Amino acid sequence: MKNTGNPGSAAPKIIPRPDHNVSRNEISSAALKVLYRLHKAGYQSFLVGGGVRDAMLDLHPKDFDIATDATPEEVRSLFNNCRLIGRRFRLAHIRYGREIIEVATFRASANHEDDDEAHDREGRIVRDNVYGTIDEDVWRRDFTCNALYYNIADFSIWDYVGGFEDVQNKRLVLIGDAEQRLREDPVRMLRAVRFAGKLGFTIDDTVVKAMQGQTGLLANVPAARLFDEFLKLFQSGFAAPTFELLREHALFGELFPATEQELREDEKFLEFVRAALQNSDKRVADGKSVTPMFLLGVFMWLPVRKLAEIRRAEEKMSESQSLNLASYEIVAQQQRRISIPKRFTVPMREMLSLQPRFTTVRGKRAMNLLEHRRFRAAYDFMLLQSEVGLADPALAKFWTDVQKQSPDERAKSFELHSTPGGKRRPRRRRRRKSSGAS
Ligand code: ATP
Ligand code: MG
Repeated sequence: MKNTGNPGSAAPKIIPRPDHNVSRNEISSAALKVLYRLHKAGYQSFLVGGGVRDAMLDLHPKDFDIATDATPEEVRSLFNNCRLIGRRFRLAHIRYGREIIEVATFRASANHEDDDEAHDREGRIVRDNVYGTIDEDVWRRDFTCNALYYNIADFSIWDYVGGFEDVQNKRLVLIGDAEQRLREDPVRMLRAVRFAGKLGFTIDDTVVKAMQGQTGLLANVPAARLFDEFLKLFQSGFAAPTFELLREHALFGELFPATEQELREDEKFLEFVRAALQNSDKRVADGKSVTPMFLLGVFMWLPVRKLAEIRRAEEKMSESQSLNLASYEIVAQQQRRISIPKRFTVPMREMLSLQPRFTTVRGKRAMNLLEHRRFRAAYDFMLLQSEVGLADPALAKFWTDVQKQSPDERAKSFELHSTPGGKRRPRRRRRRKSSGAS
């Protein structure tokens, strides 16, 4: 049996420095400064969470969480670059340039299910705000691999729950009773999949079993929190494997119901989504920027297109207008699950509505598309479609080529004939449409 049982039930296994590979070279200088200053002031000072886990795996962690027995106020008095955040549970944020080191005071766990006050009706934690000791703090953490404490006093690792072995064996095991821990906080299901996707860990059978039938609990999680989690799932460079795992464990449909329905019915759409995710991961690996609006646009694309066709049959409008209207409606539906800030939904709708314009390659209006502020994203989107056969490759080539051309060449490509002497050719008067539609 694993030692993942009861709070406070055991002394830690202490792994001395020679017996593990967590080197201070893997810890940022800012995190080291904080660890040392707390230690020198006489407090317990541990690196915990992803920082220890990723250092063990030689993954060069970027994010460092520190746990201490100093209260937030005591932490603040040690650092002048420190801000306390959070009302329910106060955390200290210590800033060094762009890096923020998060320092949390040890917390007592709220994982006794019979403690009614700490849980709501579905078993979610609603109160988690009592300071504690390290041997209490460990039990409120999610996975054993995230519950290793690296002690700056002697560089040893403290392990209460068998996490050291689980990291070595690449296993994701929940601390305590898996079903109960997922009920307390259903986001842990997404975290399981995220860590499995990023680290290539196997999700333990006990966790897989507990997830079955509980995925619906994600509906109770605030949509704003799910947006944060969406970013971590899809922008950290492991979107492609994470997506497959989300679907395998019936979680993707909880986040994107309309997308999941289309994915089941349309192989081409699935191929398109996969290509987009791979492309996005490659950008992250190459150090390029990624915007959530692009992937959101990819996820929404087929639902939006289908609805656009319906709207167009109902009422006369251009294809662009119908796409714009449909994306507005689909996004509104999607917001019930994941709240997407306007700064992403607005450009996303523009990107989608521009797609029909790529099919026109003659005239001034076509050429003006190159100057549109959303051209780059819309072009990337179209290119990706052409890669999986959803857009004409000849069109993709045209729009790729014209970007490299001189103004003269461009005018020719778009069949804009300039007249000698710079005079405008007399415009043919267009016949007014007799219908009243405008
Ligand atoms: P990464 O930084 O790579 O996302 P991480 O494990 O550090 O991974 P954080 O979200 O930074 O994840 O959280 C830091 C630590 O806090 C975790 O390792 C875990 O011990 C604990 N933790 C975070 N979220 C939860 C949660 N929902 N339930 C229980 N413990 C959590
Ligand atoms: Mg972290």
